Amino acid sequence: MTDPDGYHLETGPIRPPNEGGAGSLLIRATRNCPWDRCIFCPFYKGQRFQIREVDDIKGDIDTVMKIVDMLEDGSDMSKVPYQTLYMIKAWNRGGKRTAFLQDSNSLIIPTDQLVEVLEYLVESFPSLERITSYARSDTIARKSVHELKRIREAGLTRLHVGLESGDEEVLELVKKGVTPEQHIEGGKKAKEAGFELSEYVMPGLGGKELSKQHAYNTAKVLNQIDPDYIRMRPLTVHPLTELHGLRATDQFRMTSPHERLEELRSMVEGLEVSSTLCFDHFLNGWRGRDGGPLFKTSFSGYRLPDEKEQILELIQEGLDVPESQHLDPRRTRMNSF
Ligand code: SF4
Repeated sequence: MTDPDGYHLETGPIRPPNEGGAGSLLIRATRNCPWDRCIFCPFYKGQRFQIREVDDIKGDIDTVMKIVDMLEDGSDMSKVPYQTLYMIKAWNRGGKRTAFLQDSNSLIIPTDQLVEVLEYLVESFPSLERITSYARSDTIARKSVHELKRIREAGLTRLHVGLESGDEEVLELVKKGVTPEQHIEGGKKAKEAGFELSEYVMPGLGGKELSKQHAYNTAKVLNQIDPDYIRMRPLTVHPLTELHGLRATDQFRMTSPHERLEELRSMVEGLEVSSTLCFDHFLNGWRGRDGGPLFKTSFSGYRLPDEKEQILELIQEGLDVPESQHLDPRRTRMNSF
């Protein structure tokens, strides 16, 4: 991209909403997804995966510094692209506390390079309290605990992993490219290295046929990992995905809101973890008796095991509410990332 004034900053399309929201700095370390085959995922489709050069990433960090200085000096900002300025202003206003490394699997970067980027970022902005990224379980599993510790010590504090399911058949069906064993190994290693670990689970991913085993085996895998956070991201089917074709030909039958609550009940009953369980996405659109959200949607979620009974009672409440009153993911195309 032509950038005669040196204010361009490359950013990717997504980040987890709980990572500082608009107040988080996005640093693009890789482009797109090295796997790109999950049949429910519309992101990065057909886009070539690339690890960005360390110097280019550092160049972006320098650009951020330059723009922050200009903001603080009250300089003329008219040449700074609007989106870049918007992000850096919000981040600066929030105290420059959080950053997120994009895109979908930063841990695939060779360890020395990733450490160099992280150290440069932390050195440039000592106010950073949290740096986070997405990572795939199989990629984490391929690194040694020693390497992971180096990355953690360089400043990456939290990993967001798309577990989706702990069931082998579901993982194969959706072409996740990860086995339950790799999920467990990756999750355990991440914890051993000192990362805060956030695992994303997708209610509904087994469809009607595999719903029971999806619930049972997901709980089993999570019990082995005992992540810090379990985040529920119910399945929707986006038209640009392979899953859409399976659904259209009835090879994949989506579960209803009540069926998903039954699935969730079985999963929660099976959980023996000390994690925080979060419903921090609008697609957790079950309603309570009062018509409001059934589960609290805050990032702080519910503490397990202490609040397990409360969650199970809420699930029962949701089952008592007529199905038509819940948000039905079968009728929305929004994605659940
Ligand atoms: S879900 Fe994650 S790993 Fe799978 S294709 Fe999408 S970005 Fe890649």
